[in-house]
Amino acid sequence: MFTLDKSKQAFNEAKVYMPGGVNSPVRSYRSVGSEPPFISSASGDRIYDIDGNEYIDYVLSWGPMILGHAKSEVVAALQEAVLRGTSYGAPTLLETELAKKIQAFMPNMEMLRMVNSGTESTMSALRVARGYTGRDKIVKFIGCYHGHSDGLLVKAGSGLATFGVPDSPGVPAGVAADTLTIPYNDIEAVKALFEKEGHSIAAVIVEPVAGNMGCVPPVPGFLETLRELTTAHGALLIFDEVMCGFRASSGGAQKKYNIKPDLTCLGKIVGGGLPMAVFGGSREIMSQVAPAGPIYQAGTLSGNPIAVTAGLATLSILQQDPTVFKRLNQATETLCQGLKELGAKHNVPVQVQYVGSMFTLFFSDKSVHNFDDASACDMEAFKKFFHYNLSHGIYYAPSQYESNFMSAKHSAQDIEHTLAVADEAFATL
Ligand SMILES: *Cc1c(COP(=O)(O)O)cnc(C)c1O
Repeated sequence: MFTLDKSKQAFNEAKVYMPGGVNSPVRSYRSVGSEPPFISSASGDRIYDIDGNEYIDYVLSWGPMILGHAKSEVVAALQEAVLRGTSYGAPTLLETELAKKIQAFMPNMEMLRMVNSGTESTMSALRVARGYTGRDKIVKFIGCYHGHSDGLLVKAGSGLATFGVPDSPGVPAGVAADTLTIPYNDIEAVKALFEKEGHSIAAVIVEPVAGNMGCVPPVPGFLETLRELTTAHGALLIFDEVMCGFRASSGGAQKKYNIKPDLTCLGKIVGGGLPMAVFGGSREIMSQVAPAGPIYQAGTLSGNPIAVTAGLATLSILQQDPTVFKRLNQATETLCQGLKELGAKHNVPVQVQYVGSMFTLFFSDKSVHNFDDASACDMEAFKKFFHYNLSHGIYYAPSQYESNFMSAKHSAQDIEHTLAVADEAFATL
């Protein structure tokens, strides 16, 4: 019998000490109207909660655990590293080794800077873009998430392609006004915006495969248009590959779609499950970052040896196993095709969208290209499907607006079992 009694108790206590009982909002399960399992451990593609429930995990810490949880090589590297001290605030050989490793996957990152979170990475990349171009305005797409810094918590103002308005109390209107927002995948809106504001735009920041409104691939021509117009107007193109890096392909979306951004942000997988992210790009632009150049950016724990060790161990395994990305993509395709067929079998209108090893099951009768499309999904159906799965040992992201992920540890049997549970779940809708 599935219960979350202990988790419920733990959640009540946590709420006394932390806002909403969590340290990041989506963990609270508010968007599915329930309460989260409290996790006690994880191994491979399984996570375990304090009530003794076991789940096949398709959240994977929101993406990082591409090799599965507690991968033995990563754990061993960390155990050794900890004994040498956890932080020095001074340069180490490990950082150069990791920089080289990242560059092997993403050759566009000629130079990079290590930071502690995706938020820090995008925030810093924007500062570099503004410092480099001497312009203030940035362009962001509705439904893309780039972390929680002021200028990026912005929604569309009244009438699109106008000044942005704050998406949260505490974000100054003046800061939000420098963020121009338009719909994802809307090539005409991009063209119109550049015609009007092109001379004042420092950068366009984009998830080249969107993951934070669910998995939404770029339509043909979208990324190409961004590349063309930023170049033509002297603005920088920033690919936020914090999620899709190492997932859209081994070299992220920039390799898959063959587009060269000026700056790239990575996080999640690059830290192997520890707090770590990077931003980087051409030598010319990155040479403007302090202390090589005047654009200031710093961090006490940046590039710390534990996070770097986890990242290095993870990327080393990905690099040494030439079939891993192919297997991840095939497993994702098998699961997604299966889910699609089951939706059809039960007459439930679903769109299963996937790129590489990220995927979302949208409860919609038409494919999802932007945030409005995602918002039009049947959220009640999503909730029911989600809860049936959770209570039967399948752990999907607790929101329709999220991607799910595949790990190298999800076996053919696990996928078969996942589909069997989905078959039952669809039958309840
Ligand atoms: C997760 C995410 C971020 C933010 O990273 P944090 O480490 O949570 O600060 C930024 N951009 C994208 C695309 C993300 O998926």
